[in-house]
Amino acid sequence: MLIGAHVSPAGGLPKAVERGLERGCRAIQIFNQSPRMWKATPYRDEDVAAFREAMDSSAIDAVLIHAVYLLNCASDDPDIRAKSLASLTNSLRVGQAIGSSGVVLHPGSAKTGHVGEAIARAGETIREALADSEGCPLHLENTAGAGGTLGRSVEELAGLIEASGGDERIGLCLDSCHLFASGYDIRTPAGMDATIAEIASKIGLERLGSLHLNDSQTALGSNRDRHADVGEGELGEDGCAAFLSTPEFEGLSCVLETPGPDRKGATAEEVARAVALRERGAKMRTKAKKAKKARATTSRR
Ligand SMILES: [Zn+2]
Ligand SMILES: [Zn+2]
Repeated sequence: MLIGAHVSPAGGLPKAVERGLERGCRAIQIFNQSPRMWKATPYRDEDVAAFREAMDSSAIDAVLIHAVYLLNCASDDPDIRAKSLASLTNSLRVGQAIGSSGVVLHPGSAKTGHVGEAIARAGETIREALADSEGCPLHLENTAGAGGTLGRSVEELAGLIEASGGDERIGLCLDSCHLFASGYDIRTPAGMDATIAEIASKIGLERLGSLHLNDSQTALGSNRDRHADVGEGELGEDGCAAFLSTPEFEGLSCVLETPGPDRKGATAEEVARAVALRERGAKMRTKAKKAKKARATTSRR
């Protein structure tokens, strides 16, 4: 697993690599433009080349792009949908240029409208964006389920993938805080494994694309999207350890989007804590497996 953090590319794309290195990241995530504006940031070939060079000579192995929050691919307002399509297509193109392992997208919101129709609209927008771009994967992120946000359940994510045409470029980005807030009790290896089993049966594990590790300020099933620092929220250290040590997550990028002590995002200490918790989780799992085996042997006697 490549553990890292969301970092800012302010001052130029290579700065994101620098910030990632300062935090001990193996993976980074960036916005490809200002998250509060529709206007796209233009990148010159030199910018892209400088970024690729910085990545190549660093210990960071993966970069994710997070599409900006303004997007609503499911909007029933044609103007918003056109803007969302243009922005998503641009993110995918930038992703392809910089060698990103995926563009992470919040699938959209039905607002107060019909969910099925919103999923169909989101699917149409995503289909078009994929058709107008090449290569770069698109990771649909599960949501906390606040308001009319789409992607609150494995079932809804499956519906979104189907509505988007099921292209093999479509994957999932699983956010631990959002899973928990939308009602998946992932605080134990057993709970996490049940979630994985549901994804395997309804979507397929080949769609697992990337991960967000965030603790949650709010309770199980609260449908509220409030990130807490790793180990400091309702998931706690054990919950984060259970998520991080999920065997099916091996090899994926996992970035922190936590507030951090100064609300400037994850620090090097927090990234290191996540790395340690992953090891702790793996040990927890081995121990549980051994205990189970021992119980099975005793009962056979
Ligand atoms: Zn997230
Ligand atoms: Zn969130």
